[in-house]
Amino acid sequence: MLYAQIHLTLPAWVHEAVDGARSYGSDAEKVSLAIELSRRNLEARTGGPFGAAVFNADDRLVAVGVNVVLPQNTSLGHAETMAYMLAQQRLQRARLNRDEAGEPEGRYTLATSAQPCCQCYGATIWAGIDRLLISARAEDVMALTEFDEGPLPADWIGELGKRGIEVVRDIQRDDARAVLRAYGEQGGRRY
Ligand SMILES: [Zn+2]
Repeated sequence: MLYAQIHLTLPAWVHEAVDGARSYGSDAEKVSLAIELSRRNLEARTGGPFGAAVFNADDRLVAVGVNVVLPQNTSLGHAETMAYMLAQQRLQRARLNRDEAGEPEGRYTLATSAQPCCQCYGATIWAGIDRLLISARAEDVMALTEFDEGPLPADWIGELGKRGIEVVRDIQRDDARAVLRAYGEQGGRRY
């Protein structure tokens, strides 16, 4: 049978784990939510230990994502790509910070518990965000877990900068590393 539709969902626990009404004023608050999502995803055994969230210029939550690769049978289901897709569906536009005519429309931030892999790096270039907040580094992910982050351009931060995306790294890095370490110590993909 030819499939002509995809359907992806976040775990049901996100509805109770996330306060969509509050303001996430600081970079640390935004990243803390992404790390909390990664921790909950690990504890609930609903995917890999990664979380991400998209915020608007008013520091309000637009969408969240967690890794759903194995439960949803898709290599595309990373925390960042899920958050981008859900934000784009909520706002009904393919580029978050551009309107239908391609004119600037708001400013958006992605906070992620770990540095985007090569897939999410590409997705970040097209998603329409203005700021990228990162907790753990790729070397943390590869040291503490079995995941391969894939190749990035040598000047990956500079390439994002050329496209108007500011990168801030190492926010709450130890907290994100703790989740990755817990995942690695429990034997990786046995969730
Ligand atoms: Zn990724």
